[in-house]
Amino acid sequence: MRKDTPPRIAVVGGGLAGLTLALALHRAGLECRVYEQAPRLGEVGAGVQLSPSATRLLHRLGLEPALRSSAVLPEAMEFRRWADSSVISRGLLGKHCEERYGAPYYAIHRADLHRALVEALPAGAVRLDARCTLAEEGPDEVVLRFADGSEAVADAVVGADGIHSVLRQALVADRPRFSGQSVYRGLADSRRIPALVAEPRVLLWLGPGQHFVCYPVSGGRLVNFVATVPAGGPGGESWSRRGRVADLAEAYEGWCADVTSVIGAAEQVSLWALHDRDPIERWSTGRITLLGDSAHPMLPFMGQGANQAIEDAVALAACLRDAGPGELSAALRRYESLRRPRTTLVQERSRGNSTAFHLPDGAAQRERDAAMGRPAPEGQDWLHGYDVESALTSHQPT
Ligand SMILES: Cc1cc2nc3c(=O)[nH]c(=O)nc-3n(C[C@H](O)[C@H](O)[C@H](O)COP(=O)(O)OP(=O)(O)OC[C@H]3O[C@@H](n4cnc5c(N)ncnc54)[C@H](O)[C@@H]3O)c2cc1C
Repeated sequence: MRKDTPPRIAVVGGGLAGLTLALALHRAGLECRVYEQAPRLGEVGAGVQLSPSATRLLHRLGLEPALRSSAVLPEAMEFRRWADSSVISRGLLGKHCEERYGAPYYAIHRADLHRALVEALPAGAVRLDARCTLAEEGPDEVVLRFADGSEAVADAVVGADGIHSVLRQALVADRPRFSGQSVYRGLADSRRIPALVAEPRVLLWLGPGQHFVCYPVSGGRLVNFVATVPAGGPGGESWSRRGRVADLAEAYEGWCADVTSVIGAAEQVSLWALHDRDPIERWSTGRITLLGDSAHPMLPFMGQGANQAIEDAVALAACLRDAGPGELSAALRRYESLRRPRTTLVQERSRGNSTAFHLPDGAAQRERDAAMGRPAPEGQDWLHGYDVESALTSHQPT
């Protein structure tokens, strides 16, 4: 039981990472304020895959009814060949995940997840229109400065402000790295592609230089798709903009009918240049730490950025809950030392997939496909079977 006054915690950024942290802190009996730059809360119109390592945590936070009512539980994840849609590998999700990992694998619309988090938070937990421009750390507190001239004071500040993080600048002078890839993202009406949604699946078609992913969301009414294209194609390095379905169709000309039928069902697409950053040695100072994409922005080629952010959030809330008087800085070190090795591995493997997924047809591609076709049942245990709360109980900070 804590004997001191609970710390005042400020979270910069109200994305999936910041809101999950706010909820986890609230459930741990700690108060925090989220400062979000946008005038209203929301998420991009796209899907997100949630692994059992994250869904077990969201369920413990009380979100199971909301998630089950809107998410789809895909039966399997299939990798396929770009030209003829032949199956390279099929890994079971659905019941298999619930039985093996004790938690489901969800495909969900981001807006549904975001809404579930917001609705679970106490009123007034988020201040909107609050763009943080600077965090000044003193011996006893941190002063946050905002673009409108206002200030806020906190004992601890968490930068959950995404890949362009202002708070990260307190730790390292790096910049986002362009991957050489852009992605088109969109949602299609599943009634226009019934064959692809008859069995709910996450489908990935791998081809030379690019790949295409789709899965149902919103109770199966919509199909979310993400299509990579190499740099130099339409989109260049711009962070995000409206894309053109016709450009996407051109980029995937000659691909199998399954892929072109999804593109044919799309009415609009957005276009994002993909960036990540190198892993960094430290996420925390004495009173400031990072969470989610601000700490470990990664390429989306394992579908893990949000999952890792959710794991971060629950771990950080537990470390802050357990901290006694004068132990704030030790709590941030405990959090960071638990999380950094795992998120670094996921960042690196996500980068590795940008080569592996895009091999030209030939010997290396055939070798890759043969290896993918022999999946070990325990192959995903390290990712999906992980329970960050159990890991924390046995963790010794380094
Ligand atoms: C194409 C694609 C597909 C993906 N698919 C998956 C997937 O299937 N599964 C998965 O787990 N992950 C996936 N990801 C990754 C996932 O989307 C991100 O890792 C996750 O959304 C990061 O959340 P975040 O809250 O850390 O950052 P963000 O979502 O970037 O949120 C940051 C928030 O901070 C606010 N902010 C920024 N600067 C300031 C400031 N100075 N002051 C105040 N507020 C500020 C922003 O407005 C925003 O609300 C995918 C990513 C992409 C690009």
